[in-house]
Amino acid sequence: MNNPQEPSFRASVDMMLEKAISLMDISEGLATKIRVCNSTYTVRFGVKLRGDIHTFTGYRSVHSEHKEPVKGGIRFATSVNQDEVEALAALMTYKCALVEAPFGGSKGGLHIDPSQWEEDEMERITRRFAYELIKRDLIHPAQNVPAPDMGTGEREMAWIADQYRRMNTTDIDSEACVTGKPLNKGGIAGRVEATGRGCQYALQEFFRHPDDVKSANMTGSLEGKAVIVQGLGNVGYHAAKFLSEEDGALITAVIERDGAVINDKGLNIEALRQHIVETGGVKGFDGAEYTKDGSRALEKECDILIPAAMEGVINMSNAKDINTKLIIEAANGPVTGPADEILRKAGVIIIPDMYANAGGVTVSYFEWVKNLSHIRFGRMQRRAEEGKQQLLIEELQNLTGKKVSDDFRHKFLRGAGELELVRSGLEDTMRASYQHMQSTWRSRNDVDSLRTAAYLVSLNRVADSYRALGL
Ligand code: GLU
Repeated sequence: MNNPQEPSFRASVDMMLEKAISLMDISEGLATKIRVCNSTYTVRFGVKLRGDIHTFTGYRSVHSEHKEPVKGGIRFATSVNQDEVEALAALMTYKCALVEAPFGGSKGGLHIDPSQWEEDEMERITRRFAYELIKRDLIHPAQNVPAPDMGTGEREMAWIADQYRRMNTTDIDSEACVTGKPLNKGGIAGRVEATGRGCQYALQEFFRHPDDVKSANMTGSLEGKAVIVQGLGNVGYHAAKFLSEEDGALITAVIERDGAVINDKGLNIEALRQHIVETGGVKGFDGAEYTKDGSRALEKECDILIPAAMEGVINMSNAKDINTKLIIEAANGPVTGPADEILRKAGVIIIPDMYANAGGVTVSYFEWVKNLSHIRFGRMQRRAEEGKQQLLIEELQNLTGKKVSDDFRHKFLRGAGELELVRSGLEDTMRASYQHMQSTWRSRNDVDSLRTAAYLVSLNRVADSYRALGL
């Protein structure tokens, strides 16, 4: 961000929040209570590595405890600082309220470049950081439940869960202390893809609303739409893969750290991801034009732009050059407050982060419930359901004297397993939340964007919760 006028991430989130608060019937005191971050714990700890002690700085910020546990990922990156962690924790509060995940908001971060350390070193660092948080109940199944974020994934969550179990050997609910774990360590089917899958469901729902599609100067469906994705990490990769393979969208450019690849006929996302895994970047990918200048691709004309990497990538310096009709914020905070105003005035529709990337925490919620109930979803019902469907098919055949098709029999007989149930719950959440946000946007003249509508839905729920607490 090179414009000195650009607010910090935290100030940017608050700027958008204030706009919504000004439209609410809420006391000054309650608004302040919601806005402020309850606490931020900073820890500096040493780990002996490579013959010397290395000191690391980590944070766990709790934004709002109107519901507990509080929830939010842990990020490992060199960008991590208190302002960032607090902004992200605030977004978690609003996000959970919007998608009705029964949590307050929290976020953690460790200032580290994971690429500089070997796997066993990362394990020692992660376990040590987890130890510092666990002993202060900043990781706890009933109080504070982390999850993956930038730079962390299933591996780190498994280490954290194991560290908690070692320190709480008699806690029968210890698995629920963190989500995003591997399937064989108490995870849930569909969590890794969840945020990208949620983006796909969000876009599908958007295209079910012709008025909204029209507001974005588009017609029709996702089929054939030109989509640019910034960041092919876990979220960007899954969103791009599902949109291109299942909805017929064309991914015309992907921007990564080392530059961008462009192909107006559509990139093969699976092949591109493989290329990135093998070479560490997009350069040299077959069947696409490569440019070192990522901003050229970010500003290229498209229908849908998906910033799926970092906060602040669309800011006061480049907002006027963005050439898209619709932005879906797969990352947290990719559009700064001032950029949001510039884009809105230019007629660009933005599907806001607190809704667009809520698929991750939604499936985290399902994982947490699974851990607390100690049973896989669908385990009790699946065969009973299939038995009943079988009876129905047999009776239907007896009555009509005809056989149902094999394809129908196969699809109808299949009872829902964990993955089907997770997808069904996620799709339902994304559709219902869009409808809440959208009806607020459409029904009030003073609400000028989906973002402000999302804040209103969410803040009203948080405010109601505080009022019910008697605060
Ligand atoms: N880090 C993700 C987010 O920003 C997931 C949080 C969670 O699952 O708790 O939403």
